[in-house]
Amino acid sequence: MIRPDLCLDFANTRYYRGQATPTETLNAPADLAAWTKAAKAPSTKEFETALALRETIYRLFDAHAQGKAAAPRDLETLNHALARAPARTALKRGRDGYSWDVDARSGTALALLAPALWSAADLLAGPRLDRVRRCANPECGWLFLDDSRAGKRRWCSMSACGNRAKARRHYHKSKEDA
Ligand SMILES: [Zn+2]
Repeated sequence: MIRPDLCLDFANTRYYRGQATPTETLNAPADLAAWTKAAKAPSTKEFETALALRETIYRLFDAHAQGKAAAPRDLETLNHALARAPARTALKRGRDGYSWDVDARSGTALALLAPALWSAADLLAGPRLDRVRRCANPECGWLFLDDSRAGKRRWCSMSACGNRAKARRHYHKSKEDA
């Protein structure tokens, strides 16, 4: 099964994007192999293509989350990748249920990322696009799908950014009170 927000997970492999030095979790081709559960690491060139695609995906969703129009070039890049990615033609059944059968043997960025690309397309064109949010902590920039009933989730997680913001508010408030 492809999680609907797999594309956001991929975009979040680089986080704290608002800080001077964001946290990068994909530092080498082997990291991408691990993330995509590929048998072997892609070439450096394919790795760089994958990182560029990740940034495209991030920008597309970030723009929407901020109520801005996405750059036409980013949509073009995604469309180009979708057109050249392995075809989404066959399902397979495994222990956890059904999934798309992807031929990733070529080891190209597009083969490794096919499920992430499809999830990006489905999320962009689907009914939950308006539930894509960017964490309200400007230093964080984490993208997430807001599954709360009211649709008012603001933080990537309360334990990380939410509590920090609450602590900051509390700090400011007690300073004002003093
Ligand atoms: Zn956050």
